[in-house]
Amino acid sequence: MKYLLIFGLTIAVIWLWQGKRRSALSEKTRQQKPNNQGRPRQLPTTEIVACDVCSVHLPRAEALTNGSAVYCSEAHRRQAKA
Ligand SMILES: [Zn+2]
Repeated sequence: MKYLLIFGLTIAVIWLWQGKRRSALSEKTRQQKPNNQGRPRQLPTTEIVACDVCSVHLPRAEALTNGSAVYCSEAHRRQAKA
């Protein structure tokens, strides 16, 4: 029973130590990026389109287009034509 208590205490100490270290680490990374103060980070936007045949979503850059129609693969473009 005594060992169980010591084991539990050790786990608690490790858990607290790691939590403290994690918050210190995130503070450090926050200080390394001074150019986004309060502003949400701008992510590069990729337009997502849906295949007209199977409705799978994919980036427009990877899609095959036929006028206004969008397809995920050559097979689906052929299937739509037939
Ligand atoms: Zn498709």
